[in-house]
Amino acid sequence: MALENGNHNGASILSPSRHDAVSTYAAAKSRYQQNGNAMSNGAGQRVDGFYAADVFNERVMRQRLPKDIFKRLMETIHLGKPLRAEIADVVAAAMKEWAIENGATHYTHWFMPLTGLTAEKHDSLTIPDGKGGTLSEFGGSALVSGEPDASSFPSGGLRATFEARGYTAWDPTSPAFLTRSEGTVTLCIPTAFVSWTGEALDKKTPLLRSMEAINIQAMRILKLFGTDAGVSRVITTLGPEQEYFLVDRGLYFARPDLLLCERTLFGARPPKGQQLEDHYFGSIPAAVLTFMTDVERELYRMGVPVKTRHNEVAPGQYEIAPVFETTNIACDHQMLVMETLKRVAPRHGLQAILHEKPFAGVNGSGKHNNWSLSTDTGVNLLDPREEAHTNMQFLVFLCAVIRAVDLHADLLRASIASASNDHRLGANEAPPAIISIFLGDMLTDIIEQLETGRTRRTIKGGALDLGAHTLPQIPRDSGDRNRTSPFAFTGNKFEFRAVGSTQSSAWPNTVLNTIIAESLDSMASRLERAVGSKPTEARLQAAVRTLLKEIVRQHKRVIFNGDGYSEKWHAEAARRGLPNLKDTVEALPVLRTKKAVDLFKRYKVLSKAELESRADVFVEKFIKQVTIEAETMVSMARTMILPAALRHQARVAQAVAAAADAGVSSQTQRGMLEELVDLADSLREKTDELEEAVSHHDADPLKHARHIKTAVRPAMAALRTIADELETQVASDLWPMPTYRDLLFIKG
Ligand code: ADP
Ligand code: MG
Repeated sequence: MALENGNHNGASILSPSRHDAVSTYAAAKSRYQQNGNAMSNGAGQRVDGFYAADVFNERVMRQRLPKDIFKRLMETIHLGKPLRAEIADVVAAAMKEWAIENGATHYTHWFMPLTGLTAEKHDSLTIPDGKGGTLSEFGGSALVSGEPDASSFPSGGLRATFEARGYTAWDPTSPAFLTRSEGTVTLCIPTAFVSWTGEALDKKTPLLRSMEAINIQAMRILKLFGTDAGVSRVITTLGPEQEYFLVDRGLYFARPDLLLCERTLFGARPPKGQQLEDHYFGSIPAAVLTFMTDVERELYRMGVPVKTRHNEVAPGQYEIAPVFETTNIACDHQMLVMETLKRVAPRHGLQAILHEKPFAGVNGSGKHNNWSLSTDTGVNLLDPREEAHTNMQFLVFLCAVIRAVDLHADLLRASIASASNDHRLGANEAPPAIISIFLGDMLTDIIEQLETGRTRRTIKGGALDLGAHTLPQIPRDSGDRNRTSPFAFTGNKFEFRAVGSTQSSAWPNTVLNTIIAESLDSMASRLERAVGSKPTEARLQAAVRTLLKEIVRQHKRVIFNGDGYSEKWHAEAARRGLPNLKDTVEALPVLRTKKAVDLFKRYKVLSKAELESRADVFVEKFIKQVTIEAETMVSMARTMILPAALRHQARVAQAVAAAADAGVSSQTQRGMLEELVDLADSLREKTDELEEAVSHHDADPLKHARHIKTAVRPAMAALRTIADELETQVASDLWPMPTYRDLLFIKG
């Protein structure tokens, strides 16, 4: 089956195996409350209570901060007001006290450099003062900014040698938390990472700027509709669904490719893969369930609201999904989810693999990026409502997304480009590299009615009244799903499904926010001009109708509700003129186009230099990643596979010779031996060819990346074909590494 996510109906199927961790949590919490400050973990052991126990959140701050300080900090967090130094001092003191009470000895500014991982450098909260007392250097300034000697992070040329330092700046909108490992407790302070000249060296700073950009533009739309009363901000929300694989940790260590590259570079397909579809939403194996519960407990402690867990399509593949949150917090939490999966798995004899395509022949892993816009009063702006008036507003936001995705499909594609995601996108099992929008039949129907100006009021079943005869009705929840679309409207949010499972959510959301900010800006300007200084309901309606009609006409080509995996769609998309950037090498140059530079500059998300630095870092990362893979292949082929092939060959040769000595001569067995000799020869040859290809360097990174695409990757594929053929021939007791069968079907 070709569907990445199977053919289920999403939330409507609640098979017994789809656990709702929240109810598990509720039960656990009530047990915890009964037990006072400790709870039973089921095995009779008592463990600490966990729900957000390790988060310095609003509840804790309200308890521990003087009233006026708390109030002013909340103004910073919720209204974006600047933070005063004396407030930072008081907050730091309270935070330190809280952290020490909870066992913390050290603190760290926790940030997201361009590596795509998180980084931390620990300093102690208190040290002995040499006079029998203690000394603490953790005050307001240490909370607000830090200076990690982090000059080895990739900066894409932003930090020249004359100024290698970067500094971290507290992001008070994302709560500080404690991490615990083996008796060590560390206070983690989410921060942005910038250079002394203020250039963003991380993934968080541009994300925060993009959220500001979309806030400004969305507020203009709300003002036009008069729905801005009591609203101070429009925020973006994110609920990322994380797919991952679990493999036995012992087997993992026996595979140099998994250890170094997080994916298998060799491996013949087992007779049983995912054909039977018996894994998807199947009952969760006991060892895995114990692991998941452990992960959830740790995440709850750190305030990450994980809710859903289930088996995914491929054997050994699972998913974990939190409830959505404000995007920057969700991005921080998403990093914690990935780290926690990795950290906890070894305790259970497992290894968590987050790579987009660890195994050929079975589905890869994605990170479905559920995205929406909401007012700070909690109104989801992509949720069609009962009232006619707000549905016009809904259509404006919907069309803003359609327009943005069509205008900047190339940029969205580039935002998810990586060496690892290349193996997944367009591989006929995941969303194609062509960016299109799935709207569902009913919403598409409405969009078409907008275009023609003729409205029917005949849509059946749960349709919503838009009031005026001039506007169509909107179905409350069309309920249909399309798992083959890279960008799908799912009732009250968009799901960007092409995001890779190893990626930080920050960058794709930065791009998404910025392109939609631009659409809202353009639309708000048009509407503001049309209604003039004395807007009336009628004028607004007429202006909206004209504008939406025009947008639908210009951008409906990006809407596609059919099968995104089909050959037909590729041809159709080409006819429509939609970009089809097949891989990272084709996608990354988009970041250097004038269109992209102007866009990010205009909304103050990234300067030209900042954008260029990202383009540099992404290309470098691509080159390094594939080069490591190619070199690992060469080494495995030389030191593991070839020796095994020769041993097997010797064994067969001996058997043939022994048979001949005994006076029996089998042509078939002789043929077998010849075939083995040929395979071993080709293996040697293909290994040399790959080694030759990977040794090529080019001073121009883009050229080098192109060489990797046209020479290195094909050589890797050729070597793999021979090695995988050998795997099906060589005696299993001689094969030097665990096979797909072992990796996919043995658990814990
Ligand atoms: P499914 O896609 O499996 O049907 P849901 O629709 O309930 O499941 O939600 C999937 C994900 O979308 C969850 O992680 C959820 O938190 C997230 N989500 C739901 N509403 C929003 C929203 N308004 N903004 C962002 N993410 C959301
Ligand atoms: Mg989903």
